[in-house]
Amino acid sequence: MENKIKLITELNKKHSEMFQSQRLERELYLAKHPTNVIVFKCMDGRIHMPTVTQTPLGIMHPFRNIGGKFDLGWPLLNESFDRYVKKAVAKGNRTLVLVTYHYSEGDQHRGCAGFHYDCEESKRFTEEFRKQILRTYGENNGVVFPILVGLETDKDALIFHGENGQIMDVATIKDSDEKNLKTLFGKLYPSMPERILSDLIPLVQGNMRCIKQTTNTGKPLKQMVHGEWILAVGKGFDWLHTPNIAMIVGPYDPNIGEPIQTAANIIKSNMNAKSGQKEFVLLSSAVYSDAAEISRAKERTLYLNRLTQDIIKKNLPDMVGKMHSMAVILNADTMEMHIVK
Ligand SMILES: [Zn+2]
Repeated sequence: MENKIKLITELNKKHSEMFQSQRLERELYLAKHPTNVIVFKCMDGRIHMPTVTQTPLGIMHPFRNIGGKFDLGWPLLNESFDRYVKKAVAKGNRTLVLVTYHYSEGDQHRGCAGFHYDCEESKRFTEEFRKQILRTYGENNGVVFPILVGLETDKDALIFHGENGQIMDVATIKDSDEKNLKTLFGKLYPSMPERILSDLIPLVQGNMRCIKQTTNTGKPLKQMVHGEWILAVGKGFDWLHTPNIAMIVGPYDPNIGEPIQTAANIIKSNMNAKSGQKEFVLLSSAVYSDAAEISRAKERTLYLNRLTQDIIKKNLPDMVGKMHSMAVILNADTMEMHIVK
């Protein structure tokens, strides 16, 4: 277990260093591509959008929950999402929202456990959520532009769903030339503002590079099936960059007990699996951006930690003896993690 804690601490150190060294690269990227990009995604440990789009860390703002299931009626999500939109507007920028679902081409059971591996159901649900965003901000509002995107996890390929029902699987695109992609995606999203379209193209190009690498090197089966041993609850997990080690539950669902329980169950079945882990880590986290917020962040991470422990004790008592708990806070400017408890 000590090795696991050490691994988590080292992973954070490595990625906070990387995050800080990418500061200029990130600023340069944002100067060229100012569109605010928000991603709604599954808590599944295999889904990491900066990796599949090969963008510097901190460009995309992720929201995570089981299955990528969200409701803009959730009070905290409603406020938090709107804050990101308004912050971008204040800087003169539009917001591209990637509402995502995921599946595996090779094996249905490598798909989304949050939807019981039912890809059609996950598409239907996430499309409803996309429509809810449109309804909230207004059809053709031109500022908040939500699109439905699938991720096929065997190849790491993105599947874009167009405005008129067409589908664009990035794995099938041959020519990564900007002009060609602009034509393709302009047809897919005829009402997409020019600025957003221009800023979508580098994500597609990054994904084309990623697919090439994944296809060339081949993905080890270990990375394709669930293998998570960290139950992460709260915010600020972008540094948990290594695929497939953590199930991440965001703080947004008012019934947060449900996704926590589902995530704990998946980790439990990973432990039961033949090559599975014997123990797991409960990692709660809260984010702060200046010193004045530290004490509030501490209370948030400690609360989520207590809550998760209570849920596990009540529903999965045999997991208690296999749990090691960590409550941390994360500095948003450096991505450095500090252990609270
Ligand atoms: Zn999933």
